[in-house]
Amino acid sequence: MIKLYDTKLHTKVDFTPLKEGKVSMYVCGPTVYNYIHVGNARTFISFDVIRRYLMWRGFDVTFVQNVTDVDDKIINKANEEGRSAAEVAAEYTQAFIDDMHAANVLDPDIRPKATEEIPEMIKLVEQLIEGGHAYESEGDVYFSVRSYSGYGELSGRNVDEMEGGHRELRADGQGLEDRKRDPLDFALWKAAKPGEPAWESPWGMGRPGWHIECSAMSRKYLGLPFDIHGGGGDLVFPHHENERAQSEAACGCTFAEHWMHTGMLRINSEKMSKSLGNFKLLRDVLQTTDAAVLRFLMLQTHYRSPLDFSNERIAEAESALCRIRNTVKNLDWLIETAAEGDSTFDAQELVAEVDACRDEFVASMDDDFNTCRAVGEICKLVASLNSRLGDSTISSSDVPAVKHARDSVEELMSVLGIDASCSLEDGCSCAGWPDAVLTLAEQHAGYSGSDKGAAVDALLEARAEARKAKDWALADAVRDGLAGLGFVIEDTPQGARVTFGA
Ligand code: AMP
Ligand code: ZN
Repeated sequence: MIKLYDTKLHTKVDFTPLKEGKVSMYVCGPTVYNYIHVGNARTFISFDVIRRYLMWRGFDVTFVQNVTDVDDKIINKANEEGRSAAEVAAEYTQAFIDDMHAANVLDPDIRPKATEEIPEMIKLVEQLIEGGHAYESEGDVYFSVRSYSGYGELSGRNVDEMEGGHRELRADGQGLEDRKRDPLDFALWKAAKPGEPAWESPWGMGRPGWHIECSAMSRKYLGLPFDIHGGGGDLVFPHHENERAQSEAACGCTFAEHWMHTGMLRINSEKMSKSLGNFKLLRDVLQTTDAAVLRFLMLQTHYRSPLDFSNERIAEAESALCRIRNTVKNLDWLIETAAEGDSTFDAQELVAEVDACRDEFVASMDDDFNTCRAVGEICKLVASLNSRLGDSTISSSDVPAVKHARDSVEELMSVLGIDASCSLEDGCSCAGWPDAVLTLAEQHAGYSGSDKGAAVDALLEARAEARKAKDWALADAVRDGLAGLGFVIEDTPQGARVTFGA
């Protein structure tokens, strides 16, 4: 049974989807006025892993994520740059999609844009007015917070203690408090201001408030109630509290069965955010870091905990991931080179160990998607595979067991969205021979081409011949030269080969 931590209930609960075998999920998307930073990516990658895991467990998942393409920040950016808000939004929507692809995040099944769903939002606002939950005031429409008794339940706030309410500012910086009946009320619809994008509505030209978007789009594409509503922890209040209030007040039913929120990614112990200016853009990080390494780093922390981002952690994640990838490569090599003959290891024991790892992986992920523990189980198996198989002779009869181990590591990693079987051709940094092997091969093996793989082969050949001729100085020079680049020559019963690191 999968358990998830429900923000509203403050506890882990058994997850039983509303419709057997199906899961409906809505995760708030970005406001498209800039490139996303790695903090935003943490939230999107976390929900990508949750979605992938649910799919792997056999659920038919429908995943909806909106794009907020009308907002004060987009309008301000457009004004600064002398462009239209639509142009700015279109550019950063595409950039967001490109960034998600680069980070290996699956596309949502439906990606509605706020500006294309205005009629749906107007319909919802009308319903709220009809039901006595909202009122018009000088072309604005406000949600009447006190008309919905469940307000504050999600974020654990008491309405009577919410003095400040939702301050909304006009373009001239004046408060809109005078238009509201109660300072707690918040805008569902905003009357048009000169030069801003605006749509026709029963209350005159205007544009939707932020919260109403998600209420309208999730209702349209998933129906109410749906299973899981997610987002970053900073959205619990006011965004999700308001979404829930509007939606439940309008339908008189539950909005989302479960609420899930991610912890914040931090840099130097401070939340990464655009407003603090301490952000690193995802696309800049991915210029120098393999997306799989970034994801591996993130998954080593539980999705609800704060995550500290640093270059040291990237380096650690890179070497841990390379260990896994190199083990998969080693297993491939063992499978390829296995010959008839005696084996020196216990295949049955290996299969039992792999299966125990698979069970532990499932138990960890079932426990509120504990990727940290799940990754730990894979690393434990990999360490054991390395020591089990390191100096064993594999015979062809062992191949099914070794293949089971190899395929399991690859499968479990792919559930997390990480490719464990990378190759040099795919640009995998673990498998990459540095340029320096060319110089080394020229020096010791007389190789003058530009193919780095061939250069390494030439080095191994030169070393084998040197050993035959008892030219220990040359053999050692080849070994030490490769060691200087972080590679190790292993002499195995199947011949010599080069692996990364020890
Ligand atoms: P925004 O475009 O600001 O609405 O943010 C998009 C998503 O990123 C939301 O789900 C936010 O909660 C999330 N987010 C923003 N900053 C961080 C951060 N530092 N760590 C994790 N998630 C974040
Ligand atoms: Zn939302």
